[in-house]
Amino acid sequence: MIISYNFAMKKVAIIGAGAAGLTASVILARNNIKVDLFEQNTKNGKKILVSGNGHCNITNKFVSKSNYFSENLSFIEPTLKRFGYHELERFMNSIGILFSAKEDGRTFPLSYEAKSVVTAFEEALSLLDVTVFNECKIQSIQKEKNFTLTCKDKTYTDYDAVIVATGLLAYPQLGGNEDGLKFASAFGHTLIPTYPSLVGLHLHSSLHEELCGVKIDGEVTIYVDGLKEKTMQGDLLFTKYGISGLAIFDISQIASQALVNFQNVEISLNLLRDFNAQSLSAQILNLCKTLPENKTSTVLGAILPAKLVSVILKETRIDPNAKALHVNTKMVKTLINKLQNWKFKVTDTHGFSHAEVCGGGINTLEIDEKTFESKKTKNLYFVGEVLDVLGERGGYNFQFAFASGVLCAEAIAKNFSLKK
Ligand SMILES: Cc1cc2nc3c(=O)[nH]c(=O)nc-3n(C[C@H](O)[C@H](O)[C@H](O)COP(=O)(O)OP(=O)(O)OC[C@H]3O[C@@H](n4cnc5c(N)ncnc54)[C@H](O)[C@@H]3O)c2cc1C
Repeated sequence: MIISYNFAMKKVAIIGAGAAGLTASVILARNNIKVDLFEQNTKNGKKILVSGNGHCNITNKFVSKSNYFSENLSFIEPTLKRFGYHELERFMNSIGILFSAKEDGRTFPLSYEAKSVVTAFEEALSLLDVTVFNECKIQSIQKEKNFTLTCKDKTYTDYDAVIVATGLLAYPQLGGNEDGLKFASAFGHTLIPTYPSLVGLHLHSSLHEELCGVKIDGEVTIYVDGLKEKTMQGDLLFTKYGISGLAIFDISQIASQALVNFQNVEISLNLLRDFNAQSLSAQILNLCKTLPENKTSTVLGAILPAKLVSVILKETRIDPNAKALHVNTKMVKTLINKLQNWKFKVTDTHGFSHAEVCGGGINTLEIDEKTFESKKTKNLYFVGEVLDVLGERGGYNFQFAFASGVLCAEAIAKNFSLKK
């Protein structure tokens, strides 16, 4: 595509070449607007590259408002209405990415490679003549008639609009930071306290250290101030610091936000989700009868991971070396009850460095829900994770980041064309 600029051409600066900044760049450039994209990292789209374990869970077929958390949840409605799954698919197709959806709605690039998404964006930026400034960490945004950005001792001037797409604090090793919040505060915005999400949890116990490495397809229920909040099924992985795994990620938003509010957080684990308590009890007692001279720990080792056997026997005060013939119904009941309802107090999350996303952010009551323009400063826009919009696991975070980038850029283009 040949693009010719003229002196009247509008110029927009985008800070952050993540999901939101990349989509915004493509849409603006397609509308014949000059785009300067600033990225502190040497490469663009670093989080896209590692997302979904390198596969990039781009979106979810069943995306709806119920998949998000925010102090102002209605903010997300116009975005999802105007730019949902199919609109994102059309956009991705337009840059050369095809969709492949799983039964549960999670959608990946057909290549099943996150890298293909970043490559497609890179190609689009280059064809559309977007100027990308890598290793350029914007330090401040100034507004007089137009906007000026500062990066180290350099200034970049004369921008008709600025889009802040800097993300938030999750994964600082990939570029996560608070810069967007700093910029927003400087323009008078209020902030909703941030917290890590899709993250492991620290437990008030030493058992997890002994269980470190044990992974079980189980169930977790979270209680806040004694009240049951949510139950999720899936992987539970004991770690040195506590517990992780997909089921834990799925309840981590509730845990993290409650901890920020100094509430009491507990989880109850069911490590025997697929077992019926009665038939399991009969199976264990039968095995003990068949092998009466075997150690109790050896008999249980046929059913549970060895590390779990040793910990659970200690917890239920059953001698692991006692002969199986001594195992009785009461002992087995105690053991199974514990394994199906094992309570732990949660003391902390594993922190922003290990969190896939960050909750809280810029108060969306101060952002136009259709254009993403600041209600405090004309022509200043905020998109993506920097806003107080957080998605569940399953592609919802990218859906919002991509959608807000596109809708914001379309609004800017429309605004400029009206002024011609
Ligand atoms: C390990 C991991 C796996 C994930 N997997 C998935 C998944 O499969 N599906 C899903 O939906 N979500 C996933 N996420 C979440 C998803 O990556 C984010 O929600 C999404 O990237 C947010 O997009 P964004 O554009 O708002 O911010 P980001 O993608 O964080 O982009 C912001 C960019 O701004 C740059 N920046 C920041 N400050 C400055 C500055 N001052 N100057 C210049 N540049 C700056 C940063 O370096 C960064 O490149 C994952 C996240 C992680 C960490």
